[in-house]
Amino acid sequence: MAGDLIVRGGTVVTPAGRVAADVLVAAGRIAEVGEVARSADAREIDASGMLVLPGVVDVHTHTRVATDARPDRFFQDSVAAAFGGTTTFLAFNNPGTGAQQTGHLPTDIAAWRSQTDSDSAVDYGVSLVLQPTHGDLAREMPAAIDVGVPTFKAFMVYDFALPDSQLGLALEATAQHAGLLNVHCEDRTALETNTARLLAEGRTAPRFHAESRPPWVEASGTRTALEMAREAGAPLYIVHLSCAAALDELRAARAAGQAAFAETCPQYLVLDESRYALPDQEAVRYLISPPLRSADDREALWAGVADGSLSNVATDHVPDRLAVDKADWRQPFDRISNGGPGIETLLSVVYSAGVARGRISLEHMVELLATAPARLFGLNTKGSIEAGKDADLVIFDPTERRTLHTADLHHSSDYTPFEDMELAGRVHSVLVRGEFVVRDGHFVGRRGYGQFQERELLWR
Ligand code: MN
Ligand code: MN
Repeated sequence: MAGDLIVRGGTVVTPAGRVAADVLVAAGRIAEVGEVARSADAREIDASGMLVLPGVVDVHTHTRVATDARPDRFFQDSVAAAFGGTTTFLAFNNPGTGAQQTGHLPTDIAAWRSQTDSDSAVDYGVSLVLQPTHGDLAREMPAAIDVGVPTFKAFMVYDFALPDSQLGLALEATAQHAGLLNVHCEDRTALETNTARLLAEGRTAPRFHAESRPPWVEASGTRTALEMAREAGAPLYIVHLSCAAALDELRAARAAGQAAFAETCPQYLVLDESRYALPDQEAVRYLISPPLRSADDREALWAGVADGSLSNVATDHVPDRLAVDKADWRQPFDRISNGGPGIETLLSVVYSAGVARGRISLEHMVELLATAPARLFGLNTKGSIEAGKDADLVIFDPTERRTLHTADLHHSSDYTPFEDMELAGRVHSVLVRGEFVVRDGHFVGRRGYGQFQERELLWR
């Protein structure tokens, strides 16, 4: 364990406010925030002119585990996270990530942990994907919670969609055992009907992907999930909320006192459906679910962020590559891989489009990107710069300006949906548990430094 460290002279940001303060780090944790005296034993780093932010917590990634053919991809995306200021990420173990599917939740955890062991440069964890093949959710979900995995994911669509009967059981289990179910909310029947109709009409290009899942399909699924959670007395976490119609459903439930939470994602806050008018080979970059929405939806999401209806922002990172996973862009849209990368650009995009443009305060950004996701997902040593928390810190230069290019990114994908975006600010250095992982824009961490996070939902 290295000696004490003092981060000297920065502006420390918490959801409650910002303060010119030093941060004393001892044994990987924050020991003091304030005016810290010099000490012969402590190293110092100069953060004057910099913002000192808590490390970003990204609770929605589909980071892919190592395989013989691609042994470095999980590590690589963890390095990308670090470059972006993300010090903890949670991954899902859906089949597309290469995660081993054992048919039982406790062994799914063990398998995923062994597939990712000693691979990450930053702290990480898993949220378990519930599938129809998981026969005994009522017994296995409490067992997963007992070993530190209290968050789960259910899909209402795709071939591993959870039938309503199992969705109800899963919600009851989270209600009884301090868990939290994440739900991908879309109306499966409507989506499949729309898709069949479009394909029959020969409307198969990537842009019709968006037409197959209009806002009402998401709103309908959202309403169903909210009703089922209310019936079960369970809290609900809605992933990737993308449109005003779904936001209306969320607001109504929250106004009625329901414990309903939702994230949105950077892509829905800064991009819109005009991208689907691009040539097919370009439009395929934005083949994500939900699809990009209208400019009005985008503005509604900012309003939902501003009024607190939306709890946090996460990426839905899928490290698809144009040259591989999306190379089938001539195929009908329903056969093309869904998803796009984002693990490295969360803080940059939200700071640039949110804080630098005056849509949200710096303090609110910290709440959205670190404090709220850490609290909701039981990362109880993360998410805030206060004594006793892990010293996960981002030293951020708010004055720099740059244009985002794929060539500057480190992720395992080969593109970014945010190509050519003008960015404000830059991640300068990143510490995880008091150790530099990125320093002056260079990776100085190591594979396997990141620790698996066993979690507990204390707010439940
Ligand atoms: Mn999804
Ligand atoms: Mn996702």
